[in-house]
Amino acid sequence: RNIMRQKVIFGNWKMNGTNAELVTFLKKVDKAAKKSDVVAGLGLPFTLLSKGIEKAKNVKVAAQNVHFAEKGAFTGEVSISMLQEVGVQYVIIGHSERREMFAETDETVNKKATALLAAGITPIICCGETLETKEAKKTVTFVNAQIKKAYKGISAEDALKTIIAYEPIWAIGTGKTATSEDAEKVCEAIRKNLTKIYDEKTAQQITIQYGGSVNPSNIAELMSQPNIDGALVGGASLKADDFIALINYK
Ligand code: PGA
Repeated sequence: RNIMRQKVIFGNWKMNGTNAELVTFLKKVDKAAKKSDVVAGLGLPFTLLSKGIEKAKNVKVAAQNVHFAEKGAFTGEVSISMLQEVGVQYVIIGHSERREMFAETDETVNKKATALLAAGITPIICCGETLETKEAKKTVTFVNAQIKKAYKGISAEDALKTIIAYEPIWAIGTGKTATSEDAEKVCEAIRKNLTKIYDEKTAQQITIQYGGSVNPSNIAELMSQPNIDGALVGGASLKADDFIALINYK
């Protein structure tokens, strides 16, 4: 599935939500998603995936993590085939919360991306720098290294089936959005890096989302940037009305 640089707005519920809340949410949101011209999606906790897939006709459903191994002694983990069994087609990998709290590394991100692509599932590959890195003016170097490692060994053809989410860590859940100019600069640098790793044509077709305190009042400005093709939204994706405003930002 080549998603070819569409406008892609995904919510990320993180560790929030009940099945009942999801059903109420989707009743409103799924209708809105049908009319919206963006690809709308929702990153859900494992316990909500089945219900989400059952109820969402126009909203894509993503898991927020997966293990790269096929099966075995990995207590607490979920495999790709387990996600496929419930119909998952997208998985968020390398979110900064997973890198910071759950030992996710560039190497595991690469293994997960590789295994997901082999299974025909779209990885949403997260990258982004800490405040310290930003203040040291090393953002682009840092993010480029994350991307290079994430895509190691992945063909151009497969790279087209991925989504990148650039999420500066200092902007996540803090209410501090990157300015659209700053977000654009980094997304542009990511695309240049993809040109180096692959080629111009491939780089131009890969969807790059911005994430970090995106909300209904700043989304239009962010989405108007030439290298920002979408958003990954945490807090503001939890309420149906906010999420509808996000996917109707135009
Ligand atoms: P936020 O989270 O929108 O609440 O800042 C974004 C994310 O972590 O994906």
